[in-house]
Amino acid sequence: MRQHIVAGNWKMNTTLQDAQALVSEITNMVADEVTDSNVQVVICPPFPFLTSVAKLLPEGGRFHLGAQNYHHKESGAYTGEVSAQMLKSVGVEYVILGHSERREHFREDDQLLSQKLNAALAIGLKPIFCVGESLETREADETFNFISKQLQEGVFHLSQEDFAKVVIAYEPIWAIGTGKTATSQQAQEVHAFIREQIAKTYDAATAENTTILYGGSANAKNAQELFAQPDVDGGLIGGASLKSRDFTEIIKSF
Ligand code: PEP
Repeated sequence: MRQHIVAGNWKMNTTLQDAQALVSEITNMVADEVTDSNVQVVICPPFPFLTSVAKLLPEGGRFHLGAQNYHHKESGAYTGEVSAQMLKSVGVEYVILGHSERREHFREDDQLLSQKLNAALAIGLKPIFCVGESLETREADETFNFISKQLQEGVFHLSQEDFAKVVIAYEPIWAIGTGKTATSQQAQEVHAFIREQIAKTYDAATAENTTILYGGSANAKNAQELFAQPDVDGGLIGGASLKSRDFTEIIKSF
């Protein structure tokens, strides 16, 4: 069975006190209410709160620490940046990359993303690589071509062994933070397409084992239907990951 993952991307939200309270609430609710042992939970707080959040995550269980970004170089004169090594040294296991907000606001292109991906894998961090089309691209009926290009240029240079460590997140840009979720049918269609591209590039077994998350206004109400789709293996959750009750309900939605 493929690994199910629910990852919470807190973006640039919370103070230290909020972060500590939120993670304590989530871990308590999940401990009391979640029985499915195949669900892994990744918490991605802002950089300054990583170590404090890490201390509050139960060890050796379903909880993992994730980061929202990093620089692709190991170290050096890059004022204000954080390297993959630094993240690893404070207990980070997963890193989000290719998020549309990074692509748009920080001009991260496929070439840079492929370097970032290599840096994460070189140090043993597990990448959550995001792909997804704009509304304009969808309306032009170019979604599949667009996603295929993002995968080709960002990820498919990896060896099969390295690719096996990557989680893919399908995040249609028009659904992120807009309250406009993709229908479960739209999500399934793209997830199945992504899996097909993986099978063509690597092989059927690799495709079958790849965890593909959906992201884009997923919430406690729509998660169950989304997660019931055969190729949807969990979610990358923005807004709803900041509410402990909603996030826990999403984790319970498999
Ligand atoms: C995200 O930013 O990855 C995301 C899916 O956000 P939201 O759930 O708020 O749409």
